Amino acid sequence: MRQPQAPIARHEAAHAVVAHLLGARIRKIGLSAESQEEGLANIDRNGVSLDAIRQILFAGSLAEIKCRASARLGCSVVFDVDQITGLEQVAYEDDFLEEHNPAVAFRKAGNQPTTFTPTQGNEFSDFESFCDSDLREMTARGDFGRCLREVIGRLDDPVVWGQVEVVAAELLKTGTVSAERFLELVAPPSPLLGS
Ligand SMILES: [Zn+2]
Repeated sequence: MRQPQAPIARHEAAHAVVAHLLGARIRKIGLSAESQEEGLANIDRNGVSLDAIRQILFAGSLAEIKCRASARLGCSVVFDVDQITGLEQVAYEDDFLEEHNPAVAFRKAGNQPTTFTPTQGNEFSDFESFCDSDLREMTARGDFGRCLREVIGRLDDPVVWGQVEVVAAELLKTGTVSAERFLELVAPPSPLLGS
């Protein structure tokens, strides 16, 4: 059976992997023992650009949605970057989430379009944090779209998604991943140590 925490593990792992790619330092990642729906990615964002902060933030919800979409559809999926209106509405139209269940557009193998409508209720948590913080005030809608496409491109990169999967698997196994362990997990395989 699929572990209930699997999408949350992807969520936290994606915050960390994207943060690492953008030069931020990971302190620790963990799942919550009390809640199936919570985790934590402790990231040092000092000296990181506003654009990077936004990408690190959005990576969590986007990875969780991608993971749930893939599980529901029974196949791997990539985001449809030409159709991000639903996500823009979540971020820029007040009360949008209360009144709608936005569908997120994906593409299956062979470029076939499909959609996934999240139903858990807190898949959009990072976008809600964005709306509740000063970040939205500081982000023009055009910049939001550009940032979203950029982080989607990262998550749909098979190498990056592979790193998210590896870190998430470790989280599901042990509950926490330390800074040192994280760096080991995302390090490229050394040719000298290959079989
Ligand atoms: Zn998050």
